[in-house]
Amino acid sequence: MSNINRRKSIQVMVGSVPVGGDAPIVVQSMTNTDTADVEATYEQIKYLHEAGSELVRITVNNSEAAEAVPAIKEKLLSEGITVPIVGDFHYNGHKLLTKYPETAKALAKFRINPGNVGTKTRDENFCTIVEQAIKYDKPVRIGVNWGSLDQQLLADKMDANSKLENPKSSKQVMLDTMVESAKRSAELAESVGLGSDKIIISCKMSHVQDVVTVYERIAEIVDYPLHVGLTEAGMGMKGMVASSAALSVLLQQGIGDTIRVSLTPKPGGDRAEEVRVCQQVLQSLGIRNFVPQVTACPGCGRTNSTYFQELAEEIQDYLREMMPVWREVYPDVAEMNVAVMGCVVNGPGESRNANIGISLPGTFEEPKAPVYMDGEHHTTLRGDNIGQEFREILDNYVMEHYGTSKGEQVAVKD
Ligand code: SF4
Repeated sequence: MSNINRRKSIQVMVGSVPVGGDAPIVVQSMTNTDTADVEATYEQIKYLHEAGSELVRITVNNSEAAEAVPAIKEKLLSEGITVPIVGDFHYNGHKLLTKYPETAKALAKFRINPGNVGTKTRDENFCTIVEQAIKYDKPVRIGVNWGSLDQQLLADKMDANSKLENPKSSKQVMLDTMVESAKRSAELAESVGLGSDKIIISCKMSHVQDVVTVYERIAEIVDYPLHVGLTEAGMGMKGMVASSAALSVLLQQGIGDTIRVSLTPKPGGDRAEEVRVCQQVLQSLGIRNFVPQVTACPGCGRTNSTYFQELAEEIQDYLREMMPVWREVYPDVAEMNVAVMGCVVNGPGESRNANIGISLPGTFEEPKAPVYMDGEHHTTLRGDNIGQEFREILDNYVMEHYGTSKGEQVAVKD
């Protein structure tokens, strides 16, 4: 695992999940269902949790959504799913949390956006939410977002800046305001009586350099845990790469106690993608292991078959599919490295360096696939059934190397 020195932060309990302090960096996600639809929201929370989300946030935007929250929680608990549910409030959180006490009780944390709690009665509304958090012993996330930054505070900062002899750029003033908004809001929450061990901070922006700058600054001046992520990261590869870039720079400096990747899924796309990206970032940085890693070569002119790409994908999918079971019975299996390589050039070398690896034949090579275990040649596979045979060898390897008496009882999957 990595030698990264985590920034010291106060630990906050979100339901049963510790965030900050010496707790592992927590992966979280958010549903995109209509919260008022109890069944759909329950299903998506369950799906995200099974994918590895350790906290799941839901929007609570109106009375119907607020009324649905206790039913969603009850349904999850009836299925033995205890993942903490976080309520995302904007504009009317003070009203909803006061009117629906069962909703406040069912949630494990309230997210407050200080830019979206009202204008004239901004502080009053903010304090009402904090009072509900105190009343029900819940933590809050003060989630500043540049798309909804407190406009009055920004205007005041711009005004003060314009009077300086050497004014800063408006971008710099905006970054200052993000940090200031988070800090002031946390101070206000504490002045109402919320404990410092009940506050998590985020300051999200949508450009990598901005988010890095703002988190570096906030990390220096507060010791609350930080929820890190790029807001509106975007679709597909752009969103994944931008989020990974921002998270990597910050996590490498020890900044970040819980992370979310805000991907825009394609219509009908897989919502759990954002969970897998979070896990992959943490695993790539050597911070946490979630699933055995597959090392696969990119392929080149030495192999004109797609077989090794298909096998690499099949093995990666198989590992993910097995992890919910393996995690329980083979606790260290996520550290395993599997190589699936395309030809003799780097195949045997990478396969020897993995815990278990297979080197498939390239074009014009003899049709045989040597398998290596812990650096040694184990067997050579031939014929049309190499994929199935390799999976069986893999299953046995997992059982023998990571097994416990409980694990030995897990059936090998056909
Ligand atoms: S291992 Fe072989 S097929 Fe794969 S990239 Fe290297 S040379 Fe090409």
